[in-house]
Amino acid sequence: MQVIPGESVILKLMKVTWPKWHALALGFASLLACWLFGNPSAAAQQAPNAGTSSSRNGANEEFLQAADEVLQQVSEITHLALRTPLKKTLRSREEIRAYVLREMQEDKTAQERYAAEQTVKAFGLVPKDFHMESFIVELLTEQVAGLYDPKGHEFYIADWIPIGDQRMVMAHELTHALEDQHFQIEKWVKAARPNDDAELAREAVLEGSATAAMIDYLLKDTGRSLRDLPDFDPEMLIGDLGNTPAMAKAPQFLKDALLFPYFTGMRFTKNALGQAGWDGLPALFTKPPVSTQQIMHPELFRTGKAPAAVELPVSEKLLRGSWKRLDENALGEFGWKEVLQQFLGKDRAAPLAAEWAGDRYALFEDTSTKKLLLVYRLRLSSAEAAARFFGQYSEALEKKHDARRNLFRRPNFFSFDAPDAGGVFLHCVNEDCLVLEGGNRAVFDAINKEIGWISAPVPPEKPQKGPEKIARMPLAPHPRCNDSAAFARP
Ligand SMILES: [Zn+2]
Repeated sequence: MQVIPGESVILKLMKVTWPKWHALALGFASLLACWLFGNPSAAAQQAPNAGTSSSRNGANEEFLQAADEVLQQVSEITHLALRTPLKKTLRSREEIRAYVLREMQEDKTAQERYAAEQTVKAFGLVPKDFHMESFIVELLTEQVAGLYDPKGHEFYIADWIPIGDQRMVMAHELTHALEDQHFQIEKWVKAARPNDDAELAREAVLEGSATAAMIDYLLKDTGRSLRDLPDFDPEMLIGDLGNTPAMAKAPQFLKDALLFPYFTGMRFTKNALGQAGWDGLPALFTKPPVSTQQIMHPELFRTGKAPAAVELPVSEKLLRGSWKRLDENALGEFGWKEVLQQFLGKDRAAPLAAEWAGDRYALFEDTSTKKLLLVYRLRLSSAEAAARFFGQYSEALEKKHDARRNLFRRPNFFSFDAPDAGGVFLHCVNEDCLVLEGGNRAVFDAINKEIGWISAPVPPEKPQKGPEKIARMPLAPHPRCNDSAAFARP
């Protein structure tokens, strides 16, 4: 089964790019169809390329007519009226590919893409030698089946996919188009900036609602809707997604990040609309979820649990040396679940991440050596949760840095030196945990002081290793040392 959401989400969480378009891949739509109806539809097959130009003219009319029909049906499903005629054009695979690449390049500077990639690597979310950008280009151009461009307010119809298969994709894309006419989706998503976590939550509303509308479109002749389906675990839908060439080599984090807005967003939409059904949709835009935590736990959206504002006053000056800030933001519960999952596995990561109450990270790069320094602070739901986090994250840090020296462990403080990264420090106080990777003890102390914490415990002084002493020891061993050593032998 060909499955690739041609969407940008990955791209988003890690801010490698922020495309101003919303797309869906045919394979993804097919996966949902399989999930609903239990049989692989024709849509799951790789569609042939478009025919000759003469057959294309005839097809053109058919495509545009199909789009009008689906638009009408989706408008009825979502209760969103079409306010102005929709711009729609038939595009070849090459045209859509070129558009996607151009948007990707234009939207972020090379420096921003570099910073985003370094952040993902510093958290251990992808291997250090992984070529993120070339992977994303491959993924994006593999199989986009249609897209809606909210910048130009235009629907791009893929001309190489048979109309029967297109309709599903259209139902998704045209939901974006209708939402755009009512809620100005690009501006609305951007209003969450600079908070990445809140922005991803809004993205999940867009993708989740468009996917939910697509499901209702698929079910429309059965007398049922998404609302009638039992609650589901979004993870169960991910199973088949490693099958395409690009996805097969994607690190788990990229797969999860790619699919999060669609699956978890769809489940959120189903829950948040509740009994009101699609009439509840405008409320999701006027009072949107503020975190990925609310997307993952819709009950927290209902109760209005918002993340704590976590302060991380770390400046280049405080760090001393030639550090330059590359990036600063929040990972959110979704990002933290991914980080924990890398080192502790899924089963342990999910409940620990659910204790997330807020976070802030900052990434710095040494301008001459290009070494990275990552500092982050998490707020947990309680002091007990912070203690649990301390224990488990100590283990995660050990797995992350497999070569370690000078381990020092106390009930709320853990540190070691990693040859590849530099000093690693974890300190928890009440509900908060502070981590520094890539610094030294003096820098860590300065950060603790800056946030108003008492210093972390200090390792016992090591015996001095002055050259004089080293030189003297073999020359004049203390007789009692020899005695006690002999005494200690079994
Ligand atoms: Zn979409």
